[in-house]
Amino acid sequence: MPKKLRTATPLVLVALLAVACSSQPDTVASDLVAQADTLDPITAYSDGGDIRMNAPTRERLVAEDPLWAEALRIHYDAIVMDGHIDTPSRMVDDGFDFGTRHTPRRSDHHVDIPRMFEGGLDAPFFSIYVSSRLGEGSESTARALRMIAEVKRQVAANIEQAGIAYSAEDVVRLTRSGRKAILMGLEGGHAIQASEEVLGQLYDAGIRYVTLTHTGTHSWADASQSRPQHGGLTDRGRELVRAMNRLGMLVDLSHVSDSTFYDALEVTEAPVILSHSSARALVKNVRNIDDDMLRAVAENGGVVMINFFDPMVNGRLTDEVMDAVYDRLEREHQGNLNQIWPVIRAERRDRGIPSGMLEDILNHIDHVARVAGVDHVGLGSDFDGVSSLPDGMEDVTRLPWITYGLLKRGYSEGDIRKILGGNTLRVLAEAEQVAFDPTD
Ligand SMILES: [Zn+2]
Repeated sequence: MPKKLRTATPLVLVALLAVACSSQPDTVASDLVAQADTLDPITAYSDGGDIRMNAPTRERLVAEDPLWAEALRIHYDAIVMDGHIDTPSRMVDDGFDFGTRHTPRRSDHHVDIPRMFEGGLDAPFFSIYVSSRLGEGSESTARALRMIAEVKRQVAANIEQAGIAYSAEDVVRLTRSGRKAILMGLEGGHAIQASEEVLGQLYDAGIRYVTLTHTGTHSWADASQSRPQHGGLTDRGRELVRAMNRLGMLVDLSHVSDSTFYDALEVTEAPVILSHSSARALVKNVRNIDDDMLRAVAENGGVVMINFFDPMVNGRLTDEVMDAVYDRLEREHQGNLNQIWPVIRAERRDRGIPSGMLEDILNHIDHVARVAGVDHVGLGSDFDGVSSLPDGMEDVTRLPWITYGLLKRGYSEGDIRKILGGNTLRVLAEAEQVAFDPTD
């Protein structure tokens, strides 16, 4: 159960990291004996990477504030992970070439390999996103498989710089060899056709988390932006969560309704993730989660990865503004929460509310660290999947500013490394351990 898992966790990760460092790649993690108290986040969550920010910018920043030297050292050495990046949709729909540098000001593409190096992003989960509109039939699964194939094709074409990661151990091995570790998560549980066989097929193809729903409620789970039909997870939904546990696939509770969230926590044997959600106490958006939910994730041992999407973090979207948004949704769209984004946009325009700032993202990290604990917060940018980002977070090259901001707010180096990727890596390793020993 979750509590037991939490105490067992560091052992798993120490073992994994030991495997990654050893010359015995065949040794399985659970065969290794290590002491939990030997886990030092500073060495454990390190890939030994070089500072890849361009020299003039680096020099200017350090001249402005010597704290930047520390921030750069930590940031590029840390294993930086991201729970949710939508670049695969761009690859399939727009022929986007992930190996070529794109200029952010001239395109809304936020991520490519050259800019991942520049921004120090090491191990993102690429989202295999399937629209709710495609329904629960084979068309959705086919879409997912096509997208996975395209990610693999582009990674293979850039094999010197990147590799597909299938495990926490792969993340450590790839990033310590100076390459980017590309993980894949399925956004939209409807694409598994409520079938354990299809779930297994997607696992075999490389999927390591399933976002139980996207915007649409489907046959076994309610979504946060649809009218509830089941009051959470159905019995079939519970079975599928257990099947994910058995495979070592993370259960992602971003996008699900609050009742699905609690039902999934009740069933899961492994820690969960929210691959791209922020704090509802700061922005009362249904896509964010409230403080009780944050505490429930902490109890489960999971991690909440902060979404950077402006309407989810912008501190100017006060409770009063959001109440007006929900009233307007009721008036103009019969309360259809799928329309929340255009309505927020309209309300902001009417009130002249500007974009958020990078500090808003830091406020959400701070809040989750305070309420759930620093072991339960990570990054889940939603790059390439969102239409607006706070000022100062234009694309993946801006990630070092998160590290600098956390240092400036007094976070320790160990805690910063946990937030940047250590927590996510730990949770991935724990889910693998549950799969390895499902009787736990
Ligand atoms: Zn999403």
